[in-house]
Amino acid sequence: MKEKNRTCPICYGSIEEGVTIFTVKAGDCILVLENVPASLCSVCGEKWFSDAVVKKIEEIASSVKTSNIRFEVRTFSAA
Ligand SMILES: [Zn+2]
Repeated sequence: MKEKNRTCPICYGSIEEGVTIFTVKAGDCILVLENVPASLCSVCGEKWFSDAVVKKIEEIASSVKTSNIRFEVRTFSAA
């Protein structure tokens, strides 16, 4: 894990670990990922993802991109 108890670089609010919804355009598809682990600012709502999570999101996005799906909702799984 990365360092904890950071403060938000935008508003200096406290950052907490949690889950969020992440939406990304992958080719012609709108991909919505639920339950994505992220660091969330409790004040302004800014969010950050770990490198491992970003890599997994890219994997899911590229698998969706090669399909003919236009809209996809998935629950994020790190497995
Ligand atoms: Zn903030």
